[in-house]
Amino acid sequence: MKGIIEKIEEGGRISAAEALRLYESAGLVELSRLADVVRWRVHPEPVVTYICGRNINYTNVCWVRCRFCNFSCPPGSPDGYVLTKEQIFQKIEELVALGGTELLMQGGLNPQLKLDYFEDLFSSIRERFPTTHLHALSVSEVRYIAHMARLSVKETLARLRDAGLASLPGAGGEILVDRVRGEIAPRKDTADEWLGVMRDAHEIGMRTTATMMYGSVETLAERIEHLQRVRDLQDETGGFTAFIPWSYQPDGTELGGKKTGGYEYLRTVAISRIFLDNVPSIQASWVTQGARIGAISLGYGVNDFGSTMLEENVVSSAGTSYDMPISEIERIIRDAGYEPRRRDTLYSQV
Ligand code: SF4
Repeated sequence: MKGIIEKIEEGGRISAAEALRLYESAGLVELSRLADVVRWRVHPEPVVTYICGRNINYTNVCWVRCRFCNFSCPPGSPDGYVLTKEQIFQKIEELVALGGTELLMQGGLNPQLKLDYFEDLFSSIRERFPTTHLHALSVSEVRYIAHMARLSVKETLARLRDAGLASLPGAGGEILVDRVRGEIAPRKDTADEWLGVMRDAHEIGMRTTATMMYGSVETLAERIEHLQRVRDLQDETGGFTAFIPWSYQPDGTELGGKKTGGYEYLRTVAISRIFLDNVPSIQASWVTQGARIGAISLGYGVNDFGSTMLEENVVSSAGTSYDMPISEIERIIRDAGYEPRRRDTLYSQV
């Protein structure tokens, strides 16, 4: 353990085996200290960034039926919806009125919505709301749109980019190990397919984030394997702006199981910061962990507080518009000893 700790302190890169050893055996305080060493090396200023954005779930219709998903409905279900253009525009107007810039749009794999639907929607958004940044579509959505259009993923991404898609969120990464994917989402893309779409996006100049949904059926070694695959692709392309680990939320899902808590989150976020020495930002997941753990995570390698607004489906069921206003995010960051700064989707401070 001493050798691993020295390597991190001296700016060296640890192997997957060393990361696993650290993850399994290091105390929480030591993990916090080491993640903080890497955090200050990558971000030498006492600044924590955040963005003002909104998530719009344009449809909940999806045939994939991932076992951990309690959001989607199968095609033909009476609970399925597709938002109209007017409904989408109204939500964007609310975002723009608050000075927000990031528009995170994600839905399901809806057989009714083909490439021309997205090209039309995205170009209308760009025309009406030129100050917004469209950060949209998961890897599965992109692959399905390409499949229906009989185009390659790269051609599809280029068409979507020309219509207004500016970057891709890293959703659907879950755990990039096929044993795990086969158990939690047997009809979804493989690890290689997920990474392939990210590679294609990076190669046409699109930046993306990467995520990890941990706490379902995977082992600690499989979480490290996920980190390794993200780090390897980042060495190759440099296209990831940030890494966002979040915990599996089992309530109401077919997969079931137990929720992991703040202790597990802090260990995981710290290991992510230590291992992913080539990914610039590590983003807090206060939506799943709550504001208090979100604040504590700033001492575990996190340098970005994410977006001000909750996901739209969560927002509606909670019957409220915005879960954490900008003033509250800024107060939490200041109370933790950092200066809050607003950023854009590509992580430039504004
Ligand atoms: S692909 Fe996405 S929306 Fe569809 S079931 Fe899986 S997680 Fe849910």
